[in-house]
Amino acid sequence: MKLADRTTRIAGSPTMKVTATVDRLRRSGIEVIDFGAGEPDFATPDAIKAAAHDALDQNFTRYTPVAGIADLKRAICDRYRADYGVEYNESEVVVTAGGKQALYNTALALFGPGDEVITHAPYWPTLTEQIKLADATPVLARMHGDDGFAVHAGAILDKVTPRTRGIIVNSPGNPTGALISETELRTIGEAAARQGIWIVVDLCYEKLIYDQVAHNLPRVLADTCPDRTVLCGSASKAYAMTGWRCGWQIGPAAVMVASAAIQSHSTSNVTSITQKGAVAALVGSQATVTAMLDEYRIRRDRLHEWLTADPRLHCRKPAGAFYMFVDVGDVLSTGGFRTSLDFADALLEESRVAVTPGEAFDAPGTIRISYATSMDNLREGSRRLLEFVGKHAPQAATA
Ligand code: PMP
Repeated sequence: MKLADRTTRIAGSPTMKVTATVDRLRRSGIEVIDFGAGEPDFATPDAIKAAAHDALDQNFTRYTPVAGIADLKRAICDRYRADYGVEYNESEVVVTAGGKQALYNTALALFGPGDEVITHAPYWPTLTEQIKLADATPVLARMHGDDGFAVHAGAILDKVTPRTRGIIVNSPGNPTGALISETELRTIGEAAARQGIWIVVDLCYEKLIYDQVAHNLPRVLADTCPDRTVLCGSASKAYAMTGWRCGWQIGPAAVMVASAAIQSHSTSNVTSITQKGAVAALVGSQATVTAMLDEYRIRRDRLHEWLTADPRLHCRKPAGAFYMFVDVGDVLSTGGFRTSLDFADALLEESRVAVTPGEAFDAPGTIRISYATSMDNLREGSRRLLEFVGKHAPQAATA
């Protein structure tokens, strides 16, 4: 069957594939510990749910403006002003169906045939697939495990050519949890301003940073290249709202007009009820965000302690997001595994633990473990993982 060419350039989301496999196994009665899911296990906070109930009760169930209701656009501007000291107005915001659509609208509005768009690897695959869907070419700048995959300007700017049209930065990043420092981003912002390159920042995990590190990326870009910056954010992870589908784009009004036009011909407005919930999330107390972050930090520390009991499982405590990115290279060949994909398949088959193989992020030899799951699951899942590794690749006896 002949489908459109673009379908041959892209592949389905590999992270969602792991979720689908877990779902299938569970439906057939098999118990699985799921370290694949990239979503909070917490319930959406009550105040957000109450606002959505109210919206329903008041029959707030019709179309809204494509770019979002005024209350929500204002709440987004207020949140970014409070958090980062940056000034945006409502004409510089589009409300989208998750951060994913924010990034997609942005890609379609800014990139086209012949354009190169640089991002950093390991990467979240949607970023590169969306670049291809926009008929542009993704260009990868590789970051390194020695400093936890921190994003460096030099490696990115080395990839700039006369065709470079955009740079996408994801910080905290999926799958590594790594950050870009303000200094590194400033270097990129200055180069972008000089060379007329767009900077798109995926801030999906912006609220999930564990230590007191300076991460005011919006301020840095407002100072260096305001006319060339698009920020993409999301309610999904910060407010445990993945299923509600709410994100946003913030940037120059002309980009927002184009993005809203694109959205108007595909999905139109974000669900009316969701938008009311998102207003409550953004204007209400942020204490629930802090409480979730504190819990993720405890899980991160315990998981790290458990996994590193086997010194061949190399991982660092991530700076942000909720993924432990583990280099399993040392146990692949001794364990008889050709690839980390084989490793992950066997782990699921034999030990009923689902992890995402690094191949999904262009990082073979690694696995990604999501700790957005209960401590009991983390304890039992790590026990099974260590047992699995010990069985396939016994450690040499030490003298
Ligand atoms: N960016 C990154 C890096 C992500 O990992 C995700 C979700 N996995 C998103 C954006 C988008 O999430 P959503 O569409 O739910 O906001």
